[in-house]
Amino acid sequence: MRIVITGGAGFVGSHLCDRCLAEGHEVVAVDNLITGSPDNIAHIQSPQFSFRRQNISEGIFIDGPVDFILHFASPASPVDYLELPIQTLKVGAMGTHNALGLARAKGAGLLLASTSEVYGDPHVHPQHEEYWGNVNPIGPRGCYDEAKRFAEAIVMAYHRMHGIDTKIVRIFNTYGPRMRLRDGRIVPNFVRQALEGEALTVYGDGSQTRSFCFVTDLVDGIYRLMMSDEHLPTNVGNPLEFTVLEFAELVRKMTQSESPIIFQPLPQDDPKQRKPDISKAQRVLGWEPKVGIEEGLAQTLDYFSSRLKPNS
Ligand code: UDP
Repeated sequence: MRIVITGGAGFVGSHLCDRCLAEGHEVVAVDNLITGSPDNIAHIQSPQFSFRRQNISEGIFIDGPVDFILHFASPASPVDYLELPIQTLKVGAMGTHNALGLARAKGAGLLLASTSEVYGDPHVHPQHEEYWGNVNPIGPRGCYDEAKRFAEAIVMAYHRMHGIDTKIVRIFNTYGPRMRLRDGRIVPNFVRQALEGEALTVYGDGSQTRSFCFVTDLVDGIYRLMMSDEHLPTNVGNPLEFTVLEFAELVRKMTQSESPIIFQPLPQDDPKQRKPDISKAQRVLGWEPKVGIEEGLAQTLDYFSSRLKPNS
């Protein structure tokens, strides 16, 4: 297939480029590089790969045939989307509309990167796909949550009205190499802080929970969903749940760090608990995560260590 990957120079997008190329597809990566980086795709030598710098909220311009669009362009870290709320809303709304227009024009399929944020601060635990969520539309996270909820709605409308072969993955917290050192999320923050001997910043009392999926597991779930006939949203994530405080202790242990843990204010609307119900992905995709947290964190530590070396 010839696959367009929006956000192809981002954390997840660049791993999808690798996977699709390894499966023998041609890949056109599109990114405006506001949170993505050319470093994430610099290793790719394949003649089957090309990169276009475009802001997909303004339009997506691709010559020739397209078989599938993996739509991953968006700021995704709370710190990023707090700084870029309008770009986040635009890419979720206009960017998704443009991606669907491209799919329609080319007769291509489309997979939307949605998020566990559509469940907001959930009242149902673990979160299954039938849960409609508890989102504050006008709070600081609303720009991302509502953009993705709109994106899901317009994807379903194009599927129903135009018969486009669409898929929706709801991605839970994911970590691994190529996360930005300073994207503000828990894994890069704690790992960088531990490696640099700074205090680990736990927000609130650290009792809120998250469940962390290694990026190659996530990409495998996405690839299987792309190849499936499933059109309704599907959770992909690792159900192994930690409190934030437990996770800080794990990072300290794995880095053999002496860094203290300090407590800082909990950001507004920070979800109190999050854990995917993956029974649908197990049933429909034959997928479940394989990489244990210690193994995944070890690979992530190697990556961050090499990025933190002076002059690297
Ligand atoms: N968090 C924290 N310290 C940090 C960064 C994040 O305690 O330095 C907490 C944050 O409050 C949230 C969880 O870790 O409860 C995950 O935050 P992240 O920004 O990774 O993404 P989220 O899951 O909230 O979208």
